Amino acid sequence: MPPRQRDSIFIEVDSDSDVSILGDGDDDYTRSKGKGKGKATDKRKKDKGKAKAKEQAYTWEASYTRSWDTVQEDEAGSLQGAVEDWMARGRRRRLLAPAAAIRRTIIRHLILLLDLSASMMDRDMRPTRFDLSLQYAREFITEWFDQNPLGQIGVVGMRAGIGERIGEMSGNPQDVLKAIADRHRLEPVGEPSLQNAIEMARSSMSHLPTHSSREILVIFGSLTTCDPGNIHDTLDICVKNKIRISVVALAAEMKICRELCDKTGGQFGVAMNEGHFKDILFESVPPPAQRAVARTTGAGTANPAADLMMMGFPTRLPDTSPPSLCVCHSEMKSEGFLCPRCMAKVCDVPTDCDICGLMIVSSPHLARSYHHLFPVKPYQAVISLEDTPDPETSCHACARIFPTTATTTATTEGMSPLGRYQCVDCHHDFCTDCDVFVHDVIHCCPGCGK
Ligand SMILES: [Zn+2]
Ligand SMILES: [Zn+2]
Ligand SMILES: [Zn+2]
Ligand SMILES: [Zn+2]
Repeated sequence: MPPRQRDSIFIEVDSDSDVSILGDGDDDYTRSKGKGKGKATDKRKKDKGKAKAKEQAYTWEASYTRSWDTVQEDEAGSLQGAVEDWMARGRRRRLLAPAAAIRRTIIRHLILLLDLSASMMDRDMRPTRFDLSLQYAREFITEWFDQNPLGQIGVVGMRAGIGERIGEMSGNPQDVLKAIADRHRLEPVGEPSLQNAIEMARSSMSHLPTHSSREILVIFGSLTTCDPGNIHDTLDICVKNKIRISVVALAAEMKICRELCDKTGGQFGVAMNEGHFKDILFESVPPPAQRAVARTTGAGTANPAADLMMMGFPTRLPDTSPPSLCVCHSEMKSEGFLCPRCMAKVCDVPTDCDICGLMIVSSPHLARSYHHLFPVKPYQAVISLEDTPDPETSCHACARIFPTTATTTATTEGMSPLGRYQCVDCHHDFCTDCDVFVHDVIHCCPGCGK
């Protein structure tokens, strides 16, 4: 047992430094190495938290990344196996997701709190913590808006002991991306102040209605914070205001960061390497489940049943309409949207009307938020065709012909040896690419429309 164990760790370290196709080298990679190691992998899965931390390589342990080494060819010299593993990973994550209905907030407000202190210039993450954070922040924002079209993001930076508003709360991804586009404007300097920055983030969310979520996501690279007062007071106020704080630490765990997350119901994670950093950052993309406790103790939301809220669907003005002033920027423009209640003209939806406060959304936005509440059920991997008298010959979505014989005998968890995945509702078969595409992108089964 001991040599085998060491062997598997060795492989893990090797694959960890990879950031491209295999992601952060999760345990799928080792799993594919053969049945012999199944036991070690399973055991590892059970005591996840600690075991994971022990076995994943820390950034400073990683040697120079030779990404071509980490992609393993199979006996026939093809990369198919590596790609399949990568897809199986996403599929398995989906199977682990809770099937029961949970209440989620679809109208989200998030402040992204970026550490811009001198410690972000550390090179333990390549090229620097700062550059990597900016790059991931951009990817995060794009993904976040894709999944939460009704949400809004603001950006606050912390450097030189103060909190600095970098981007106003906005529902337009382009606005947010523009705010962090210029890296020279964000040059890291001085010490960070968690308290100042959180206070600033909190104040920009204080006006929000109760039905929307208030979240702060901190990317924190420092090991110190210099605060003007007692940060525990700030924490208490955040708990009272139901602000959910999540922290992605790049250096190490700090007690105050852990406490901020635990008491407000957020997630805390220490990034061990580049891939892991991205993983824990992207954990904040799907909307958080609403906590029952928060609802019963909070004033005004004691009602456990769903609250109705008012939304307006705007009228879109054609580009040829006569120019008029918009209420958001006071600019003369032809295009825009009319608030259905007060007929004020706004430039972008979704937004809150600046005049009457009505929430203005377009119906596609609303529809796109629904898939979190009613996700497509995971497709079942078809293991054998013995029970099916008349199997479909091609994928129901893309019409690709299915292989008639099993391509591999190795059954990775969640993978079908026949390349078939079946919808549990309409019983149509789909190919592996379509399975991933249906669940990750279109969120609707082409066979039954559910
Ligand atoms: Zn405007
Ligand atoms: Zn209005
Ligand atoms: Zn297909
Ligand atoms: Zn279906």
